[in-house]
Amino acid sequence: MKLTGQNFLGNELSSYGDKNFNAINPTNGEKLPPDFMEATVQEVDEAARKAADAFQVYRKIDGNHRADFLECIAREIENAGKDLIQRCCNETGLPEARISGERGRTTNQLKLFAGLLRDGSWVDARIDLSDPERKPLPKPDVRSMQVALGPVGIFGASNFPLAFSVAGGDTASALAAGCSIIVKAHPAHPGTSELVGNAIRKAIIECKMPDGTFSMVHGLSNEVGMAIVQNKHIKAIGFTGSFNGGKALYDAAARREEPIPVFAEMGSVNPVFILPGAMKEKSLEIAEGLAASITLGIGQFCTNPGLVITKEGQSTEVFYKELSDSVSKTEAGTMLTKSIQQAYEQGSNKMSRQSGVHQIAKGKGGNTGFNVTASVYQVNSPDFIKNDGLEEEVFGPSSLVVSAKDNKDLISIASKMKGHLTASLFATDEELDNYKDLIYILEQKVGRLIINGFPTGVEVCHAMNHGGPFPATTDSRTTSVGTASIYRFTRPVCYQNFPDHLLPEELQQANPMKIWRLYNGEWTK
Ligand code: NAP
Repeated sequence: MKLTGQNFLGNELSSYGDKNFNAINPTNGEKLPPDFMEATVQEVDEAARKAADAFQVYRKIDGNHRADFLECIAREIENAGKDLIQRCCNETGLPEARISGERGRTTNQLKLFAGLLRDGSWVDARIDLSDPERKPLPKPDVRSMQVALGPVGIFGASNFPLAFSVAGGDTASALAAGCSIIVKAHPAHPGTSELVGNAIRKAIIECKMPDGTFSMVHGLSNEVGMAIVQNKHIKAIGFTGSFNGGKALYDAAARREEPIPVFAEMGSVNPVFILPGAMKEKSLEIAEGLAASITLGIGQFCTNPGLVITKEGQSTEVFYKELSDSVSKTEAGTMLTKSIQQAYEQGSNKMSRQSGVHQIAKGKGGNTGFNVTASVYQVNSPDFIKNDGLEEEVFGPSSLVVSAKDNKDLISIASKMKGHLTASLFATDEELDNYKDLIYILEQKVGRLIINGFPTGVEVCHAMNHGGPFPATTDSRTTSVGTASIYRFTRPVCYQNFPDHLLPEELQQANPMKIWRLYNGEWTK
């Protein structure tokens, strides 16, 4: 398919503006055709108006039809075939196997939400029957369920050009909830975005969904994103990216006349605690696994293990040697964008200048062009504890190992930590029982706790929580991966003393949809 470089205002292509930009191939720094047209504020307004109109129809479309639509998007993405894979590789520098795998994750994610809609029970229907005889006051008939929030603005992430981008998790969950969406395509992969956007547009036409259910705008400047957040028709934002970006959008949303929720996932250093017993039993295995996790995908994952805490003592020498040897053998890798490469270089330089920090491993090559070299640093706990900056993410293949002197130090380190997406604990069975205090502290700091495993690799499933306390996200009550992410884009509505025929089917007395409901306090079908 020939790329147009235009914005999608609903099903129409549009290019009112005069600013354009190109995708860059990170492997050689060359511009890729065509020119992409940055959207104007007028185009964002037009897309938002269309989204508001479409929402009034789309929110009422039943779950089975919305499920057909999500499955149709998945098929159309698969139909985009090799063109999509090739363009995505050219725009990201990521290998074909990774992109093909990510496409599977993206389409499976859409299908998972389709399954959720067909089952229907996700609406959390609650029914409390009336009791007119109740004394001193009669009890009313009260029923509630989750309904769609309204048009949602979605910011695609650079590091998952398919699974967290135009048809990624935010899109799948918002469309499943019954929300229309405007996607701000990430400027690092505009061609991939257009191909995926086109797949969604085809599905909209094929499934006869209202025009305006999906729009996509391009932009290299912050103006486009800000215009989405500030538009009065937009009722929520989904974002994955930097702390600065997520916080700027969050603040802008809070300053609106009508503030709206911003669900921003802004990264994390994902602390990994290695307890002495586990270190003694498997220091080699843990070091090898850690090196692989740090360098996976050139470290460009929000779940990259950027902080490792060990306890001084037996077997740490073997661990340090193996970690250093494994990382030192790693070739330099190509980052997604020049600015991500530069941010990594600056972060690495800053890290190496901090008091008490030493580099203990460096991969092959250098931080040149779009390439970066893996780095592991080491610091002792007193220097770590007094320096808050050492907990900041260096996005890329970098990690800091902290040596704690004793258990008191381990607890101090865990207690001072800010919010993160995950924490991992390598421990023997006995240690798991003996270090419950540490687990209880970590439970309050992160969204996912992992025993004897690394944080990279996030399963897309019903029970997944990909979130965590600030600054990992702007709302620790939510997840951006898995079916529970749908609740970011819904709100409860209560119907009191409604005649049965006016109730949504989910709440009607006969339970025509045969869904699970909390009926007078008991879960029943
Ligand atoms: P980013 O700079 O946060 O950008 C993400 C999206 O948000 C882009 O579409 C960007 O649009 C928009 N945006 C950012 N700041 C904005 C603002 N102030 N106003 C309006 N829109 C704004 O992330 P990135 O370009 O993907 O990577 C940069 C850094 O983000 C990395 O070095 C890394 O530290 C971090 N990152 C984190 C994750 C994660 O998983 N949490 C993933 C990827 C990257 P414009 O480009 O038009 O500004």
